[in-house]
Amino acid sequence: PLADAAPEPSASPTWLSPVLSRYWDDPRSWTLETYRRHDGYLALDKALRMDPDQVIGTVKDSGLRGRGGAGFPTGTKWGFIPQERSPQSDPNAQTKDADGPAPKPHFLVVNADESEPGTCKDMPLILATPHALVEGVIIAAYAIRSSRAFIYLRGEVVPVLRRLQAAVVEAYEAGYLGRDILGSGYDLELVVHAGAGAYICGEETALLDSLEGRRGQPRLRPPFPAVAGLYASPTVVNNVESIASVPPIILRGAQWFRSMGSMESPGFTLYSLSGHVARPGQYEAPLGITLRELLEYSGGVRAGHSLKFWTPGGSSTPLFTADHLDVPLDYEHVAAAGSMLGTKALQIFDETTCVVRAVLRWTEFYEHESCGKCTPCREGTYWLVQILERLEAGDGTEADLEKLLDISDSILGKSFCALGDGATSPIISSIKHFRDEYLAHFELGRCPFDPDRSTLHD
Ligand code: NAD
Ligand code: SF4
Repeated sequence: PLADAAPEPSASPTWLSPVLSRYWDDPRSWTLETYRRHDGYLALDKALRMDPDQVIGTVKDSGLRGRGGAGFPTGTKWGFIPQERSPQSDPNAQTKDADGPAPKPHFLVVNADESEPGTCKDMPLILATPHALVEGVIIAAYAIRSSRAFIYLRGEVVPVLRRLQAAVVEAYEAGYLGRDILGSGYDLELVVHAGAGAYICGEETALLDSLEGRRGQPRLRPPFPAVAGLYASPTVVNNVESIASVPPIILRGAQWFRSMGSMESPGFTLYSLSGHVARPGQYEAPLGITLRELLEYSGGVRAGHSLKFWTPGGSSTPLFTADHLDVPLDYEHVAAAGSMLGTKALQIFDETTCVVRAVLRWTEFYEHESCGKCTPCREGTYWLVQILERLEAGDGTEADLEKLLDISDSILGKSFCALGDGATSPIISSIKHFRDEYLAHFELGRCPFDPDRSTLHD
């Protein structure tokens, strides 16, 4: 999985000690047999001997932060779930008693709807080691006292869906799922649900609507899912990588996890490296590694070319340039440098790339994926595309740049969910770093990177 386009690096760097991806290259890494050979399900055995609160405490102490993009502390999120024991997680099973309504069931939902442009870590993780996710799900569900869990997976990735379903069947047959797991008295049913291919269904509340059988559109937050999520019950929604990180934390302890990364952003993580690089792929490293270090290990920008701009966390995060090569890739440092770590999707563009065209492509994506619920995003992304199209074709004016910024300002912080905000990131940051390149388009009357092309659709 670590890609194959360029020569192997001469020496392993000191930071290379993979946990999640350590046996991705093993033959049949996805089977239960291989997983067990690599200590699989030992963490579950240990967790089931602990009190659920102790499991939550360990994850809190580890400092694990959500790997879906926002970096919210995972243990804290689990701690929001009411501590009383949940009834069997069947909404129909709720009854009233003399003291009032019975407590609501708790649910665990794994967000496996990975769709952020440039992000490719959760799908490879499931493909290579689905049992790492399944074991994490069982531990997390036990910790929040849930007896029903769901994995909401991107529907388009059929091979991933099949592999995950096969792993779930294996886990049931081995007694890791179902009734009385490993003789502990704990029951858990796990459902794998395939989405229908909408970016907005990766937004956690739209995902919950979709899972309930409705059109996926974001709900107003608060209440957050921890208070009122699936079927209006307390629900933890976690990313795939976050959940798969839990078994090693339980097995090896919070301090072990904290020995990697930084104080505020501890542990290891998966970076997706794509674009104009010699060896694209998934790279596991401690949080706080720099792009320079990752490029040194991955063979660098493709031969004969130099870095022009890159995204630290997918297209929804402000662009960085070659000036940011040494920014530690953790939540604090990336934010202090003016962007967001997001999904850790490092999309690399060399000097042959027209930034206006790249931004246009991303903006077309947001326009297409806007769910239409709120006006700033629905209308704004449409107008952003119109203006970027004429700018890219060399038909714009300087006033168009101000219009782009003005429309972005009307979307940012004023739209209903993070999709609208994310759509403005590449636009605002590219104008900040590459204003001259925008100007060159209308001064030349064409894209300077493509002299033979006078309009976008030629
Ligand atoms: P957020 O910061 O609003 O929330 C993060 C998580 O913390 C959520 O689960 C939320 O329920 C919980 N939370 C936050 N405050 C809470 C509170 N007070 N009480 C209880 N729970 C609380 O971020 P978000 O809008 O959920 O996600 C935005 C991120 O999604 C972006 O940073 C982006 O990088 C990422 N993203 C990822 C993908 C992908 O494919 N993985 C796609 C698009 C966007
Ligand atoms: Fe829908 Fe966009 Fe509004 Fe989010 S910001 S609710 S995606 S229209």
